Amino acid sequence: METQVAVLGGGPGGYAAAFLAADLGMQVTLVDMEPALGGVCLLRGCIPSKALLHVAKAMAEARHLADWGVAFTGPKIDLEAMRTRKNKVIATLTGGLAQLSKKRNVRLIRARATFEDSQTLRLEPVDHQTLEDDRLRFGHCILATGSLPTKLKALELPSARVMDSTGALELPDVPETLLVIGGGYIGLEMGTVYAALGSKVSVVEMTDGLLPGADRDLVKPLQKKLERDFAALWLNTRVTALAEKKNAIEVAMEGPDGAKTQRFSRVLVAVGRRPNTADLGLENTKVQVDSRGFVSVDRQQRTADPHILAIGDVAREPMLAHKAAHEGKVAVEVLAGHDVAFEPRAIPAVVFTDPEIAWAGLTETEAKKQDRKIETAVFPWAASGRAQAVGRPEGLTKWIVDPDTQRVLGCGIVGPGAGDLIGEAVVAIEMGAHLRDLTESIHPHPTLCETLGFAAEVYFGTATDLYRPKREK
Ligand code: FAD
Ligand code: NAD
Repeated sequence: METQVAVLGGGPGGYAAAFLAADLGMQVTLVDMEPALGGVCLLRGCIPSKALLHVAKAMAEARHLADWGVAFTGPKIDLEAMRTRKNKVIATLTGGLAQLSKKRNVRLIRARATFEDSQTLRLEPVDHQTLEDDRLRFGHCILATGSLPTKLKALELPSARVMDSTGALELPDVPETLLVIGGGYIGLEMGTVYAALGSKVSVVEMTDGLLPGADRDLVKPLQKKLERDFAALWLNTRVTALAEKKNAIEVAMEGPDGAKTQRFSRVLVAVGRRPNTADLGLENTKVQVDSRGFVSVDRQQRTADPHILAIGDVAREPMLAHKAAHEGKVAVEVLAGHDVAFEPRAIPAVVFTDPEIAWAGLTETEAKKQDRKIETAVFPWAASGRAQAVGRPEGLTKWIVDPDTQRVLGCGIVGPGAGDLIGEAVVAIEMGAHLRDLTESIHPHPTLCETLGFAAEVYFGTATDLYRPKREK
């Protein structure tokens, strides 16, 4: 079989690339070993986790209504119905992707592929399906094989009680106690789901704070809430061993107070993800892989092999779906001969906990590391009418500003809906907005997006909902 463009991997990077390539008139073949398109994000990542977080949020809001004089009796949870509903969301979206590929004449091949050389993929059938051919010759290949959960020796135990994110998303039961190893994105999002369903959730994180890399002022309100919602947050702590016991996993940990063991009904291991580059036959091509396993790419997603480009989780961090899709589009435009490159000023990051945390562009943490001079302008949500009306005054909105030009370099938000609010900041940062652009844009009242305008006003000392001494500008 031959194709002009082969896309290996049907995740958000791969399918975006395949669809755009077809739209630009290329002949495209997309290879994935799964029975449906969507990759990790749609099948066992972003979408199923957000469907379950939606349930957790609705339950929390129902409980929260007691403060307003409306009390409900406790929830009756039908896990089978919840699983069915979540799977329906996935099926609707994968069905949509299948239709979109058909409309565009993208040839789909379900197979496990490896590189035989720089222009040939060897195809192996999955689930005893028959293949038309066992080789696919291509002009160019866009490699989009994504990532896999990181495995650590001390945390490997062949037990149904020890899950990764895929296992946790299957909702096998509501364990009485759940230990989450890793206080990052997955640990905190899935911990939030299980805590809402009734599990006593504990988190063990090896660094000195949750969500390493995120600014501490954004993490603080979340950490305070999780200290109430979760059974325990153990920082600076490492798990040294897991052992199967009757009806439990015994976990050995070492932390600031020394070593201890504790039993949990289930354990979720969420200690990061690694690029999926092993066993792809990349040694038969000129593609270079770095020491962490990422495919080395340039600003145009080109690898060291002139026939192969790489995008998404397999190419570089951050491992986020929207970054994968954007890189996929850049790669295709490069193949089409357009003058483009992947050089965003802001890749938004959102942790869909309650409250949500979102940031884009430069963070204070990164600025400190770079020894770069910045100023910040912070609006505390306690002064937002909308935040008070919905009973969530703990949030904050922060601009990171270039002190010389007063252009916005970054933004951080914590609070309900932060993930949606960050969109405005992404546009502002990409456009090189001046903080004045934010104060001069009329934001609707009463909304949480007003806090983006208010934070800019704080910088100039013109915020009227707060008293902050005027700065000389
Ligand atoms: P992937 O989505 O990983 O897809 C790779 C595809 O390649 C897979 O379908 C796989 O079957 C196929 N493949 C691999 N090797 C082969 C082979 N040899 N032959 C054939 N096919 C192959 N990101 C966000 O932006 N927002 C979120 O809310 C979010 N939530 C997440 C929640 C969880 C629990 C997890 C695990 C991840 C989440 N992510 C989220 C990250 C997001 O899923 C990834 O960044 C995204 O899926 C990467 O897309 P990709 O196209 O690079 O690869
Ligand atoms: P992560 O990198 O976000 O968090 C892993 C955490 O585990 C870190 O805090 C790390 O310090 C900790 N850790 C590592 N080894 C440990 C050990 N031995 N003991 C205790 N703690 C340990 O990784 P993740 O949560 O597995 O998620 C993987 C990636 O998937 C994320 O980085 C992100 O790119 C993506 N993701 C994104 C979203 C989203 O966009 N909302 C949601 C889920 C996943």
